[in-house]
Amino acid sequence: MTAIPGYRLLTLGLTAVLTAGFLFAPLQGKKEETPVEAFSAGPGFEAMHYSDSYAVYQWALCNTGILKLVPNAKNLPDNTDTDGSSAGPAWESGAALTSVSGIDLNIEAAWKKYDARPEKRQVVVALIDTGVDYTHPELADAVWINSDEIAGDGIDNDGNGYVDDVYGWNFYDNNNHVFTGSDDRHGTHSAGTIAAARDGIGTVGICDSDYVKIMVIKTLGTSAGVGTASDVIKAIEYAQANGAVICNLSFGTAKYSEELYQTMKNSGMLFIVAAGNGDESGRGYDIDGEPVYPASFDLDNIISVANLQFDGNLDKASNFGVKSVDLAAPGNYILSTTSGGGYGYMSGTSMAAPMVTGAAAMLYSYDTSLSVTDIKGRLLNSVHRLSSLQGKTATGGMLDISAAFALSEN
Ligand code: CA
Ligand code: CA
Repeated sequence: MTAIPGYRLLTLGLTAVLTAGFLFAPLQGKKEETPVEAFSAGPGFEAMHYSDSYAVYQWALCNTGILKLVPNAKNLPDNTDTDGSSAGPAWESGAALTSVSGIDLNIEAAWKKYDARPEKRQVVVALIDTGVDYTHPELADAVWINSDEIAGDGIDNDGNGYVDDVYGWNFYDNNNHVFTGSDDRHGTHSAGTIAAARDGIGTVGICDSDYVKIMVIKTLGTSAGVGTASDVIKAIEYAQANGAVICNLSFGTAKYSEELYQTMKNSGMLFIVAAGNGDESGRGYDIDGEPVYPASFDLDNIISVANLQFDGNLDKASNFGVKSVDLAAPGNYILSTTSGGGYGYMSGTSMAAPMVTGAAAMLYSYDTSLSVTDIKGRLLNSVHRLSSLQGKTATGGMLDISAAFALSEN
């Protein structure tokens, strides 16, 4: 094994093995080629419990059924496109132009219950992805810090086999640099969805970062987000050994790995997995028949997630499967953090999975009587059923966080 990414890709032929790009790049690429005509769904968020200024453009938090132009310069930070992404989502022809009120996470009541409860559990969520910009103001308090490790002394202080792993580990390059720059926007975006700061600026994550911490495990590299099954296995073992209980996997491959299957089965963690973004032409397919792993693994500790648009339909690129895919969550035109301290929109099942990861972590933190297995049951038993998802997902519904919270005693 070499640490030179290009060599690794070419000689081992791994581009098709595990890629985040496979999941989001086709959509993302199209958008960046299209002249920017920025829209988002909203507003409505001003009246809610946390009114961070840019979160008003995050339809996933509160969809009032109104599509609203996002004036780029005025409403998004100047550094939005530091990584080359547009300030707002360019509108694809054929994309949904109808926003349906109530097609959102239904989070507000759950937030209020969560904040009212004095005793909550600390939760570590592993993000096995690209790296994460842990210096982003929205994420600085949200990242897990290995308190048993002394930074920069060249010694494996906690004896876990990794030297100076203060913020996690980089299995792609085999070092402790979990943020490497613009290649890490995919993971940075997911981290913001889970736990961006409630600081009155930018966006907000689903979770309160006082209680939910993100363990950054960079396992995918290059701007396309590629990696290997063997590194993912090491990453899962690292997450498990260092205290993570919930693990987000927004990548996939058509190639089955028995070792990955067994590692996930035996880990004791709950995995939230993206279902994948369709074929080469950007058309979603049934992963019961054409499996995508790990989403199609038949395991009790996996929740597989499809990408829902704000009109209540699956994105046309989202994979589905009445056996393999459990539920849908908002994944289209999602505003979150990007590398370099910026904000940007991204779309795909890669964006939908962290919505469910955030919900799982928030509920696990809130109701200390629940195991991670219980969390899966709660989230699946409380979905907001939609006719568009019948025959497409096992539950026939989308994530509904307040309904999941309502199943707890108080
Ligand atoms: Ca260590
Ligand atoms: Ca914020």
